[in-house]
Amino acid sequence: MNVPFLDLGRRPEALRKIDLLAIQGVLDSGVSILGPEVENFENQWALEAGCPAAVGVGNGLDALEIALRTLDLGEDAEVVVPSVSAAATVLAVLRAGLKPVFADVDPQTGLMCMESAEIAVGPRTRALIVVHLYGRLDRPDQWVGFCRDRGLALVEDCAQAHQASWNGQRAGSFGQVAAFSFYPTKNLGALGDAGAVTSSDIGLIRRAQELRDYGQAERYEHHRVGLNSRLDELQAAVLSARLQHLGQETSRRREIAQFYYDNLLHADLSLLERPKEPESHVYHLFIVRANKRSGFRSALLRQGVQTDIHYPRALHQQIAFESVAHSPGGLAQAERFAEVCLSLPCNPWMHDHEVEKVVESVNKLRVH
Ligand SMILES: *Cc1c(COP(=O)(O)O)cnc(C)c1O
Repeated sequence: MNVPFLDLGRRPEALRKIDLLAIQGVLDSGVSILGPEVENFENQWALEAGCPAAVGVGNGLDALEIALRTLDLGEDAEVVVPSVSAAATVLAVLRAGLKPVFADVDPQTGLMCMESAEIAVGPRTRALIVVHLYGRLDRPDQWVGFCRDRGLALVEDCAQAHQASWNGQRAGSFGQVAAFSFYPTKNLGALGDAGAVTSSDIGLIRRAQELRDYGQAERYEHHRVGLNSRLDELQAAVLSARLQHLGQETSRRREIAQFYYDNLLHADLSLLERPKEPESHVYHLFIVRANKRSGFRSALLRQGVQTDIHYPRALHQQIAFESVAHSPGGLAQAERFAEVCLSLPCNPWMHDHEVEKVVESVNKLRVH
C-alpha cells in the first residue's frame, strides 16, 4: 500500500457533487466574471479572515502584489521578507516595484526570525511581509507591535494559513492588508488559480478593487495602472461550496499532526516546535527536520511513503533573487533549514491506516 503525498483526485464523491452543482449554477446564470458568486464568496471570505471586506483576485501572487500596491509605499521602499517561503512572496515585492530584503528564519519553526528582521530594517524600510508558513500563526501580535514601533506596514502572506487563529483572531486580520491563495493544493483550493486580498481599511479595499480590474475607479475611468486579476464566477462558486467543508478538513489535518507529534520517534529526525495554541496551526504542511534527508526520503519511498520538500533552497539561493539584499546578520539558518526540512503527507484525504503507516515507516527506518 502506497501513501501519496497529496492526491486531489481523492475528494469524496459527495464533495464532487457539490462542486458540480456550483458549476452548473454558474452555467445557468450566464455571468462569468466579477458577478454575484464573486461577491458572495468575498463576503464569506471576509468573515473567515476576520475582516469587513475581501477582494477576489486571480491568484496568490497577484493578491500579494495588489496588497503591496494598495499601500502606496513610494519608490525605493524596502520590504523585509523571510528567506524561507514560496517564491511568490519575494516575486510580489519585485513586481510591485519595491526592494525586498531577506531576513533569516527561526530553526524551531522555519518562520521569520524577529532579531534578523530587526537588523534588516533600515531608513528606507516601509513594510514587512510576515508569512504564516506551513499554516502556522506564530505570535502575530508581536509582529504587529514590531511594525507599529518602527512605522512599518504589516502585510500578511496567508496563502498557507486559511482559518488559523491566535487568541481567537484570524490570520488575515493582523496586518494593514493580507493576501490569500486558493491554488488547488492549498487548504481551501479552487479548480484552478484564485486568490483574495483582505483588509480592515476600506480605503485599501477600494484600491485593491481598482487594481485588479485595470485600475478603473468607474467603468472606463482609469485612476491607477492596474492589472487584469479578476476572480471568475466559476472559481468563486466552487470556493463557496468547498468552504462549507473547510472547518472539518482542518480538524482532520490537526488530528493527523497531533498523531505525528505524539508518535514520531527517530534519532535522525526532529520535529518543529509544537504550537501551544492548537487553533494557531492549520497544518497546510507537516514539516520535520531530517539530518540525512536524502537517505531518509529514499528509504521512505521504498516503504511506499511519498514525501516532499518545502523548500529545497532558501529564496536567496535562487538565481532569480541573487541581487536581493540580505539582513546584515546573514541567512545561515535559512540555508540550514533548506537542507534538512522534509514534508510528510498530511491532508484530509488520508486514511487512519495511512497515517499509522507513515509513523511506522519513519520509526523503523535505517538511514545510511
Ligand atoms: C502558494 C503561495 C503563494 C502564491 O500563491 P499562487 O496562488 O500560487 O500565486 C504565496 N505565498 C505562499 C507562502 C504560498 O504558499
